[in-house]
Amino acid sequence: MNTEKMYKEVGISHEVYAFGEKILAGLRERFEEIDRRAEYNQTKVLDAMQKNRVNATCFAATTGYGYDDVGRTTLEKVYASCFHTEAALVRPQITCGTHALTVALSANLLPGDELLSPVGRPYDTLEEVIGIRPSPCSLMEYGVTYRQVDLLPDGSFDYDGIAAAINEKTKVVTIQRSKGYQTRPSFSVKQIGELIAFVKKIKPSLICMVDNCYGEFVEEIEPSDVGADMTVGSLIKNPGGGLAPVGGYICGTEECVSRCAFRLSAPGLGQEVGANLGIMPALYQGFFFAPTVVAGALKGAVFAANIYERLGYHVVPTGSESRHDIIQAVELGSREAMVAFCAGIQAAAPVDSYVTPEPWAMPGYDAEVIMAAGAFVQGSSIELSADGPIREPYAVYFQGGLTWYHAKMGILMSLQKMVDAGLVSIDKLQA
Ligand SMILES: *Cc1c(COP(=O)(O)O)cnc(C)c1O
Repeated sequence: MNTEKMYKEVGISHEVYAFGEKILAGLRERFEEIDRRAEYNQTKVLDAMQKNRVNATCFAATTGYGYDDVGRTTLEKVYASCFHTEAALVRPQITCGTHALTVALSANLLPGDELLSPVGRPYDTLEEVIGIRPSPCSLMEYGVTYRQVDLLPDGSFDYDGIAAAINEKTKVVTIQRSKGYQTRPSFSVKQIGELIAFVKKIKPSLICMVDNCYGEFVEEIEPSDVGADMTVGSLIKNPGGGLAPVGGYICGTEECVSRCAFRLSAPGLGQEVGANLGIMPALYQGFFFAPTVVAGALKGAVFAANIYERLGYHVVPTGSESRHDIIQAVELGSREAMVAFCAGIQAAAPVDSYVTPEPWAMPGYDAEVIMAAGAFVQGSSIELSADGPIREPYAVYFQGGLTWYHAKMGILMSLQKMVDAGLVSIDKLQA
């Protein structure tokens, strides 16, 4: 078997391949740890499926109102069991992560209430949801105010600032687990638990929502295990396992989740309606695969971090740090390097491998964004993808990979494109 020859066939040179193998030789222990965690989480998912007696009738399609949809109801029980929550809302009608978060926030904030982010600026698309950037139908328009406490320079929580920001209006606290398009560290579930305990000690009635995007199955516990009232995410990221074609989830307390259901459908209807349109097999099977898929993505992230760190780039997290999400930021320092990196990820894709990604003004973002993805599901970022806003520090955010081998090929291809563009010298690979 000559794997190197096969790599050569797709355009990866001997130098790039050999550099990758050298880096990989030092990652065995990390990979074993990732595999052990996947085994734990696979068992957790199976336990949830078995306890809720998943069976073939759960895979049937429903249409129209979707009354008595056993597949939908059972899937929500499976999610609730797995996240250890009273309830869950898992729906194809939730169009993406931003929508899931919008439902969770707007269902639980009323005019006169205040939303607090104790972890600094939220994900770009949430700025319009909240009204930080004025937008029609933002929470701000409905009379919900917003307050933010930035992280301290070392990336830790500003506990004094947070205590001072909580007031009689504060109703919901939003905590983003993953760094998103920032170069701050992502938070561990343990850290999130400490923050939740801190704010609830000051004001026990606070509702804590965690934006769990990209975090699912990276650790053995989820934010719902450490006091989050709502844990929210997208099915075209981790928990969909690459198979879910659409959807979002909100796991949490019965009270919060039922309000979310009323907001998503209509007051009085709530969780009783919502046809599954025949996608239940993909949602179940995707959830079943998710721990393994996340493990592959994590191996890719660790590999990318170590490759680019060795070449002298600033990477977040570092090559040796523990992981709390599947995102790897690589600060490439220039527009050209971002374009070359993304061209490599694109060239390694199973779909659309022949196109060249270019920066564009994407709705919801305030800078030009470049995105590389050749996905089976449009925009799915549990599939191998790389993106980032074209602005200082020119960081590319690399994530996903339905299999470790695809992630590996993508990273090698990104490096190859950097070498081809004269941005990384061959000498550096051989040093
Ligand atoms: C992806 C993401 C979102 C938004 O999800 P979309 O599906 O793109 O709308 C929100 N928060 C974080 C941290 C994310 O990574």
